[in-house]
Amino acid sequence: MTDPRRLLPSVGQLLDEPRIAALLDHAPRSAVLAAVRSAIASARRGRAPVPESWPDEVRERLVAESGRSLRPVINATGVVLHTNLGRAPLAAEAVAALGSVAASYSTLELDLHAGVRGSRDDHGRARLAELTGAADGFAVNNAAAALVLALNACAEGRSVAVSRGELIEIGGSFRIPEILAKSGARLEEIGTTNRTHLTDYEAAIRRGVAALLVVHRSNFSQHGFVATPPLEAIVALGAANGTPVIYDLGGGLLVDLSRFGLAGEPQVQTAVASGADLVVFSGDKLLGGPQAGLVVGKAEPVAACRRNPLARAFRADKLTLAALEATLALYADPDIALSRIPVLAMLTAPAALLRDRAERLAAAIPSRFLPELLAGTSAVGGGAFTDARLPTTLVALDPGPLGADGLALRLRLGDPAVVARVADARVLLDPRTLLEPLDPLLDAISAVLDD
Ligand SMILES: *Cc1c(COP(=O)(O)O)cnc(C)c1O
Repeated sequence: MTDPRRLLPSVGQLLDEPRIAALLDHAPRSAVLAAVRSAIASARRGRAPVPESWPDEVRERLVAESGRSLRPVINATGVVLHTNLGRAPLAAEAVAALGSVAASYSTLELDLHAGVRGSRDDHGRARLAELTGAADGFAVNNAAAALVLALNACAEGRSVAVSRGELIEIGGSFRIPEILAKSGARLEEIGTTNRTHLTDYEAAIRRGVAALLVVHRSNFSQHGFVATPPLEAIVALGAANGTPVIYDLGGGLLVDLSRFGLAGEPQVQTAVASGADLVVFSGDKLLGGPQAGLVVGKAEPVAACRRNPLARAFRADKLTLAALEATLALYADPDIALSRIPVLAMLTAPAALLRDRAERLAAAIPSRFLPELLAGTSAVGGGAFTDARLPTTLVALDPGPLGADGLALRLRLGDPAVVARVADARVLLDPRTLLEPLDPLLDAISAVLDD
């Protein structure tokens, strides 16, 4: 038998290969050459098996070695808040605001009227209060930081009561008991996994807890023999005893989506109206803005958070603040928010639009993949509306000899990369999460598959 390593192609042969030559349109010759050399060298040294497809191997190395590693991808999974894909894509208005502030000096901490130092927290401050109904609020880096800050400000060195049914893990190592311990507060577990009563909170207050923490069960739901007191009752109890209530809301939903079949996720305004002292939520989940953690609530506890040295450690940067302010501005008119904020537009996309996109997508796919339209569902993702399954039209591809995983890999190695779902030995593309304008995306997808 011949050793396949003796039949390795030369650098020149690979550069003549059309799919490798085409890489020169997107990358400098030196980078393509380096990728070709390193692909041959690894195969020769036996470090890696001889690649089945040299063009795929070279393209992969080119991406790994010379490309930017943090790059845009086309999300064809249909998971709207896909944490691994960067959660919320921003509205054009937010991108513009971010871009202009990034490329210039800004009013980050300057009061233009008085000509004196201002506060970065003032950007969007009035808007945040008006939108949420809270007396005050500001942004830090993410909701995890917002929660640590709120707990530290209210209960450092003291205990905080949390229902055993709310000691949740969100993923990415966010676990309530661990976050709480790091905040400097002590966890006082109350109730049971399935049932916690107002009397459990009462008893905790009698034992002298510094705060009550209520956590939204973002990424799972409980059914059966379960009980949780209404938030209003917990808040009233806290208020009567001077014990602050912190509500970790997670998602940051600011508009009612029930008419689109999305119900059950608490809205920020309702949480604030319940009278909770502090409400914390994410900027890049259902709010549809940049990664941020919002702390809103009553004036005094918000001021205490702002004065806390951790607020300095967790402070949001100017790019985040610019994008957040611009995103919040779109909520002045809920219809504008629904159409301009990509997360909301995707969640509420009409069936006919999805079907139309699926048809255009199917038409752009080479016929050897036998594209077929299928009724399916999309998930919200990001630990929001856990039980919701949104009806969509999928485009199913028959991967042929590549196999479903092979075809999904080919799509991921495209430029731009396309991330799809694999199910039942087929590759599924969900048009819900494709961003307009669609044509460049269709071109990219068909170019990768045409090779
Ligand atoms: C997502 C989530 C968090 C963490 O939010 P980040 O902005 O990712 O830090 C905290 N609490 C709840 C309930 C969540 O759903």
